[in-house]
Amino acid sequence: MPEKMMDRPSRDCQVVVIGAGIGGLTAGALLAARGFDVLVLEQAFVPGGCASTFKRRGFTFDVGATQVAGLEPGGVHERVFRELNIEPPTATPCDPACAVYLPDETEAINVWRDPVRWRAERSQHFAGSERFWAKLDQLFELSWDFNQREPLLPPVNPSDYLALAGKLRPRTLLTAPYALRTVADVLKDYRLTGDRRLRRFLDMQLKLYSTAEADQTAVLYGAVSLGLSCEPHGLFHLEGSMQVLSERLVEGLRKYKGRLLTGQKVQAIRTQQGKAAGVVVFDRRREREWELRAAQIVANVPVWSLPDLLGTVLPVRYREQIDKLPEAPGAFVLYLGVREEAIPSGCPPHLQFLYDLDGPVAENNSLFVSVSRPGDGRAPEGHSTIIASSFTNARAWIDAPDYEAMKAAYTETAIDRLASYFPDLREQIVHAEAATPRTFQFYAGRPYGYVGGIGQRPNHFGPFSLSNRTPIANLWLVGDSTYPGEGTAGVSYSALNCVRLLEKHAR
Ligand SMILES: Cc1cc2nc3c(=O)[nH]c(=O)nc-3n(C[C@H](O)[C@H](O)[C@H](O)COP(=O)(O)OP(=O)(O)OC[C@H]3O[C@@H](n4cnc5c(N)ncnc54)[C@H](O)[C@@H]3O)c2cc1C
Repeated sequence: MPEKMMDRPSRDCQVVVIGAGIGGLTAGALLAARGFDVLVLEQAFVPGGCASTFKRRGFTFDVGATQVAGLEPGGVHERVFRELNIEPPTATPCDPACAVYLPDETEAINVWRDPVRWRAERSQHFAGSERFWAKLDQLFELSWDFNQREPLLPPVNPSDYLALAGKLRPRTLLTAPYALRTVADVLKDYRLTGDRRLRRFLDMQLKLYSTAEADQTAVLYGAVSLGLSCEPHGLFHLEGSMQVLSERLVEGLRKYKGRLLTGQKVQAIRTQQGKAAGVVVFDRRREREWELRAAQIVANVPVWSLPDLLGTVLPVRYREQIDKLPEAPGAFVLYLGVREEAIPSGCPPHLQFLYDLDGPVAENNSLFVSVSRPGDGRAPEGHSTIIASSFTNARAWIDAPDYEAMKAAYTETAIDRLASYFPDLREQIVHAEAATPRTFQFYAGRPYGYVGGIGQRPNHFGPFSLSNRTPIANLWLVGDSTYPGEGTAGVSYSALNCVRLLEKHAR
């Protein structure tokens, strides 16, 4: 049957997934594999959301995510592909996972993949911090062990609490005193508050993984996100591009007769007697509206999208909970296609730079840089891609009257900063373009241009995070607003949780 015919929507569907980000595709493919009739609706013309790509002049640029956790045996992506019986994307481990440069320093702090080497590196750079790192390693090990038992978090009813209690082991209780503490609290325990270099290193790395700094990131989350860079886990660089991850998930979806329709923006979620019952969709190709009934709806959208999709049907208390969430950051991203002469020999695939030791890792004070490898499918021969992103106040961009001037200024600053690491950069640029919170709002449907979900602060992490369940029966939320937060691995974990809950509820 031609693909177009296969993908034609029926007017009734068992499960509709709104959004084909990694969270929605993972949930959709797993539900299809478990026997549900699934239709995924994506407003953009390609799937992948913040982990998709675009092409310009022979270069392929990763839109947002550039490195992937969870591909190692037992990692969340690997488990999903194993269940789907689909070959995982080809990937190479990043070693170092990241080369971190503090302001005015020319020697990087390399987060090595080998844990012994990484231990030696951090002792060399942060003398006297060994006991602090040993505590983080212990918390990582305990939390990971707990995670492997697949606890359903957050618990919302007595049977959840009972199930969660069954996942605890005596050793898990060693994490209890740390449940409400931040990474900075633990630095204080080891009298390291005054070590500005260590604090800034932690702020830089944690901001990438939790969107919050050390004084706000829950230490149980921080310990896991920092520990994941090392063997037997690791961060990976995908061959081809990031798009391969969504392509494989779409393959999994279709293998089990699930369907994906792109260019379909869900404008409203319909309810009937307090239960989710269908969606109103705008077909961006045909420019017309159509409706679909569905028994279950999985929304792979940031939680801030729900007020628009549900209108007055959204319970007031849930809306207030959304309104009280801390603002998420935005991202300014510069995409450069360059001649390979700009790439220093031995350049690591990921680098991070901070520009002011006293300023927060926010508003254009840092760059996270990803560099393509020869032959990895992202650049024509003799060329490379450099993608550099900085955190920025998302809302400031949305209504900015001087938007174009702001974008030009951020672009110039980023190129100037990159030029201090990449030789003759300006002369070697073949293509340059930038994305701002407005870009993420328009192309990835992120309200206010927020990216990265809800920061993993103690009051929003684990038992206090947003559930896949919503107050509307048969409506589920999946993606980086929900437990355990951002990153392609995080949203796949969220999808796994959601699928288990939905399956239990629907069967
Ligand atoms: C600059 C940047 C760098 C990053 N770097 C990394 C990294 O290196 N590694 C990593 O793991 N993570 C990284 N991340 C985070 C990671 O990309 C995200 O956390 C993850 O991809 C989010 O997946 P998701 O499925 O939750 O949401 P999204 O990717 O936002 O997907 C949601 C999808 O839903 C669609 N949609 C929204 N509304 C509607 C609607 N009404 N109707 C139909 N469709 C709709 C959107 O178009 C989108 O495709 C980065 C993010 C950014 C922005």
